[in-house]
Parts: sequence; structure tokens; C-alpha cells
Amino acid sequence: MEVPYFDLHRQYGVLKNDLEKKVLSSLRSTQYSLGPEVELFENNFSYFIGTNYCTAVNTGTSALHLALLACGIGAGDEVITVSMTFIATVMSISYTGAKPVFVDVFEDTQLMDYRNIEKKINNRTKAIVVVHLYGQCAEMDSIKKIAKKYNLRIIEDSSQAHGAKFNNFNAGSIGDIGTFSFYPGKNLGASGEGGAITTNNKRFDQKIKNLRNWSQPKRYYHNEISFNYRMDSIQAATLNVKLKYIKKWTNDRRRIAKTYQSLIKNSKFSITMENPNNYHVYHIFSLFYKRRNILHKYLNANGVGTNFHYPVPAHLQKPYQKLGYKKNDLPITEKISKSQLSIPIFPEMKKNEVEYVIKLLNNF
Ligand SMILES: *Cc1c(COP(=O)(O)O)cnc(C)c1O
Repeated sequence: MEVPYFDLHRQYGVLKNDLEKKVLSSLRSTQYSLGPEVELFENNFSYFIGTNYCTAVNTGTSALHLALLACGIGAGDEVITVSMTFIATVMSISYTGAKPVFVDVFEDTQLMDYRNIEKKINNRTKAIVVVHLYGQCAEMDSIKKIAKKYNLRIIEDSSQAHGAKFNNFNAGSIGDIGTFSFYPGKNLGASGEGGAITTNNKRFDQKIKNLRNWSQPKRYYHNEISFNYRMDSIQAATLNVKLKYIKKWTNDRRRIAKTYQSLIKNSKFSITMENPNNYHVYHIFSLFYKRRNILHKYLNANGVGTNFHYPVPAHLQKPYQKLGYKKNDLPITEKISKSQLSIPIFPEMKKNEVEYVIKLLNNF
């Protein structure tokens, strides 16, 4: 049997009529950048996340960049984050001129180890970028306490965590600013690139909206160095259709994860678990196995798609070698980068596909 790692054709099959109607009408409107469809999406998405404000942008990376700029981050500042993430989290910090400072993660959750934060704080530290990796929120209570004590801003990179909850609060509504990606492979994906920024802070929201669109209170009059990070209306039209399904899709992902968790029985490796006080949205379902390359080859040879998230942690990537981290500076992060394997989990996975993956894993 062939089980793809991910298959958007199945989702497209279900949404075809609705999606094509909305995208065509957006095309015919000739309002291609920002406009009413984008504003509608901003309202819909802020309602879904539970924040007062939302700004739609062109990518999740731009969302992070603007969130950092809204917090006043720039050259000479330091921003604490994790190395176990997609590189955009870290590169967006570099775009501002600030220096990323890495803390390790917990081995059992792969999320920011808050016990490591305080020793990395100095008088240049301005913010913490928390990553809700794989679809599960980091331990926000402890992180918020530290941020409050040292007067640091918190940005939640929620690119993998649409609708994930910590103590019943949505990812992206807990810190000062939340950022999202709508890259097609994310739990909520556009027909191309997209991103959003959520906040309850009016001042941040205004700053973000200015920076997104050339900071022009009046057309062709510009207040500061700013960007073209606008969202296309066709992406907003897609997202307005798909947002109606996100709760159902999340339930489907959770159902598959629960099946994996109760039926995968193999003492050779460990698997993704849900932490207390969390609502995991299972963007990624992980196995952890010292000899993961063997498991990866075995699954691929039997028709099952797999992935690594992420094989090289940020602090060991070429552009960050100048920061001077050495091998073993972040031992848990490095261990995960060598042992993590992602197996298929997407809402349209069929029952027999899930069963097949489980059978292969139990027989391994
Ligand atoms: C996808 C992703 C991003 C970047 O989003 P883009 O829309 O691809 O720019 C940032 N952070 C994390 C954790 C991601 O998974």
C-alpha cells in the first residue's frame, strides 16, 4: 500500500466547488491585493484565535519579521528562541539586526525548556520567540512569568499550531503577539503563500498594519522604512473557505493521533504525546528512535512517506556558525535532530492507511 506523507489532492476534491467559486469571484472582482476579502479573513481569523486584532500578510516569515519590529527589536538587541524549529523563526530575528540566542528544549515535549531562559538573559535581551512546535503549545505559564520579571516581550510562532490551546487559550493569543503561516502544507493553508499576526494590543496592531503596506497614512506619503508584505485577495478567499473546516480537520488529526497513541506498541521508539493543559493540533506526528534512518528506509520501502523535522538545528546551520555554538551546546536539540521521524498525519487519511502504518511500526 502507498501512504503519502501528505496529499492535498484529497482536500481539494472535497472543497473544489466552494473554493473555485470563491477564488473565481475574487479574480473577477479585480481587487487583487488586500481589499474586502482580506479584511473579512482578518475578522474571521481574529475571532477564531480570540484576539482583538489580526493583520494578514504574505508569508509566515513576514509575520514574524513585523511582530519583532512592532516590539521595537533591532540591532544590538538579543532575542531568546529555540534552535529546534524551522529556520524562519531564527532568520526573521536576524532580519531586524538582533541576535538570536538559543535555549534547549525538553526531551519529552521538544518545546522550549523554560528552565534555561533566565541564564541567557542580559541587558540586551528584549524578547522571547516561543515556537509551538509540531502543533503543541510550549509551557506558557512559566515563560510568561519570566518575561514579566525581566520585562520581555513574548512572540508566539504559531505557524504549526492553528487552533492549538494551552489552558484553553489559543496559540497566538497568549503572549504579546502571535504569528501564523498559511503555507499550503500547514494545518490551514492558502493556495500559495500567506501569513497572519494576531494581538490584543492596539498599538502593536497599528504599527504592524503600517509596516505591512509602506507606512502611508496618505497615498505616496511615507512615515518610516516599511515593507510590501500585503496578502493577495485570492489567498484570503481560499482561507475564508478553509477556515470553516479547521475545527473538523483538527478533530480528524486528533482522532488519528489517538489511534496511533493507543495502537502503536513497539518499545524500540517513543512517539508524540499530548501534554497536560494542552490541546495538540498534530501538525506533525513524531517518532523518536536512535537509529531513525533505518526506520525511515523501512517505512519508505513499504510505501509510507516520512520526513525529518528538522535534521540540522538552527545553531549548526551555516549562517549561524558565526554565533560560536559548538556541538553539544544544545544536547537535547541535537539529539532530537538525529532521532526524530515524522509519519503521515493529515485529516483525509483513510482508516486502512492508518492501520497499515501502525502494523508496519509494530512489526518493525
Ligand atoms: C512554516 C513556518 C514558518 C514560516 O512560514 P512561511 O509562511 O513559510 O514563511 C515559521 N515558523 C515555523 C515554525 C514554521 O513551521
